[in-house]
Amino acid sequence: MAAVSFALDNSYARDLEGFSVPWRPEAAPSPKSLFFNVPLAEEIGLDVAALSGEAGAAFFAGNALPEGAEPVAQAYAGHQFGGFSPQLGDGRAVLLGEVIDRAGQRRDIALKGSGRTPFSRGGDGKAAVGPMLREVLIGEAMHALGIPTTRALAVVATGQPVLREAGALPGAVLTRVAASHIRVGTFQFFAARGDHARVRQLAEYTIARHDPDRVGTPGRFLGLLERVAGRQAALIAQWMNVGFIHGVMNTDNMTISGETIDYGPCAFVEAYDPKAVFSSIDSQGRYAFGNQPGIARWNLARLAESLLPLLADDEDQAMDRAMGVIDAFPALYACHLLSGQRAKLGLGVGQAADDVADAALADDWLAQLHAGRIDFTLAWRRLADAAAGDDAPLRSLFTAASAPDAWLARWRERCAREDEGASANGNIAAGTARAARMRLVSPWAIARNHRVEEALTAASDDEDLGPFERLLEALRHPYDETADNARYAEPAPADVTAGYRTFCGT
Ligand code: AMP
Ligand code: MG
Repeated sequence: MAAVSFALDNSYARDLEGFSVPWRPEAAPSPKSLFFNVPLAEEIGLDVAALSGEAGAAFFAGNALPEGAEPVAQAYAGHQFGGFSPQLGDGRAVLLGEVIDRAGQRRDIALKGSGRTPFSRGGDGKAAVGPMLREVLIGEAMHALGIPTTRALAVVATGQPVLREAGALPGAVLTRVAASHIRVGTFQFFAARGDHARVRQLAEYTIARHDPDRVGTPGRFLGLLERVAGRQAALIAQWMNVGFIHGVMNTDNMTISGETIDYGPCAFVEAYDPKAVFSSIDSQGRYAFGNQPGIARWNLARLAESLLPLLADDEDQAMDRAMGVIDAFPALYACHLLSGQRAKLGLGVGQAADDVADAALADDWLAQLHAGRIDFTLAWRRLADAAAGDDAPLRSLFTAASAPDAWLARWRERCAREDEGASANGNIAAGTARAARMRLVSPWAIARNHRVEEALTAASDDEDLGPFERLLEALRHPYDETADNARYAEPAPADVTAGYRTFCGT
């Protein structure tokens, strides 16, 4: 079989000595391709034809490394559910290397589930088909929603079972593409060891990779903290505006790049509830839907602590600078949140805009959804119908007693102020245009828990990829309200949601 050849760079291994361990993926006995992301392969400039066949499956299983590849397992630490683990690291992943994509951006290519590494601790280094296809589905859904995310390039079944609580499951390896795999926990690893020189080296590398405009500038380390805070504020606001619950926001699962990473026990909220938690291991609700902005701030404070020695020679001054960024985070987040909410409400930021009143309008809308246990995704979609003049679909989500009449009147008044000056005909046109804009920012098809489970069960238990492929297709066009994807817009029965538990993908 011809080896797949393409050029991988290894700047992480080359420039950062002592940050990773050279490591080779384990070979899989009989690799079989389950998924290959052609649009992503094209985006990063890979040879799609060469990677589609058997050679591709062998490559994505880690059996045939490209010439010159120097794969490594990366070191990192992390706060998991609030408790610090000084050594985590790639326990079941290897970074194959980096490519420069068509847009000139450096992207990591890593395998996940490719066997034990020096960081495996008690784990087997493996992954099962279900959780890896889950990472494909949610990652592609997030990407289609315009939310920064790592993405799956391929999944291959290894032909080897993995042992999990549920018994023997088919094993798989996922290939992940990321802007980088540098995490808050990567900084923590060296900071916890008092290795300030390496914290500094990592910061310089990170700035060069993610914020090249800041290279060599005075104040760049504080600038790095500010940039990460900015990216995370924007990211979490996007999560909140589509109802995404990450489920395991440990500091090792928060990237410096601002991409969503590690789709384990994640889920989309159904009936709106800030307390929604699906993860089986999150019994305290630390990572509940509504806690995510606060947890992001907490995680950023851990990053700030790791960077302290770089922020100023004087400890108090360093602390003041760090706290300045951390304290500014809630307002920054609120700003991103409101801008997303305004778009979803069909509102602009023209003369009629008033931040306080608009934020209250959005809050009160969410309060109505919460009180009525209304499906978050459908409610936004049906609000677009209301903008176009048809209230019936929205009303049908509520009971007669909980109908949001007073709120709708307030929202209409705000819309009317924005449209002031339009004639009666002009108002109808404005309503139609507003509805169209709203439908471009509030999805119709999301990765609903019951549909994801259905797809993964068929793939894992029956080797039937049909449901997975159909769901993936719908998720790649989340704003299209078609008869074909209607089943992906249907909420799960309430009793399914009430009993739904997600598990870490181990
Ligand atoms: P995660 O919860 O997937 O973000 O993983 C947390 C840590 O556990 C990371 O250091 C992983 O590399 C490690 N880990 C997770 N699953 C396994 C596994 N099956 N074998 C070895 N290490 C694992
Ligand atoms: Mg992780």
